[in-house]
Amino acid sequence: MHDNLTIVDHPLIQHKLTILRDKNTSTAQFRQVIREVAVILGCEVTKDLKLGHIDIETPLEKLHAPYLEGKKLCFVSILRAGNGLLDGLLDLIPSARVGHVGIYRDHETLEAHRYYFKTPDKLGERLVILVDPMLATGNTAIDATNELKKAGAKKMKFLCLVAAPEGVEKFSKAHPDVPIITAALDRELNDVGYIMPGLGDAGDRIYGTKG
Ligand code: URA
Repeated sequence: MHDNLTIVDHPLIQHKLTILRDKNTSTAQFRQVIREVAVILGCEVTKDLKLGHIDIETPLEKLHAPYLEGKKLCFVSILRAGNGLLDGLLDLIPSARVGHVGIYRDHETLEAHRYYFKTPDKLGERLVILVDPMLATGNTAIDATNELKKAGAKKMKFLCLVAAPEGVEKFSKAHPDVPIITAALDRELNDVGYIMPGLGDAGDRIYGTKG
């Protein structure tokens, strides 16, 4: 177990994760449920956000009330599967800024190849939450984090749905300053880089591009 790993084992998440893992779950249900899980994970990953205060009036009296500044937060989705989680996170925090990193992994070498990178400015002033459902080898998350740090990100978290021990190990070594928040830590990677028992290819499951 790593110090920087948080497993969110809320019963609702575990229940929904079982639906996501089930190979008989339809594309429509998968997309809906991953969005719901993202809302719950989003509460955990943002639990230490700093609050400002504003003056409001309740129907009864004036109140100096806590208030979140959405522009201090940036979600960065690793395309394409990250967008499945992103939708739920934006349901929760519609004012957050959003970046996208396009990375595919070579099926032979499992290395990450980046083809797209677009983020909001002033990354250094924001909490940057990198989002990808699967932390498998760790190569994709490491590459995206490297690039985000080069672009100025200072405070980062990595949010996923399912992590493999191998990915947690590698990512934690490369970026010990970036906490990992996941719904599950699975058994292992298989020899073609899939997480076991896992849920299959997250992108294919979200978008129905296989079978
Ligand atoms: N990417 C996926 O979508 N699934 C895995 O199991 C591993 C990487």
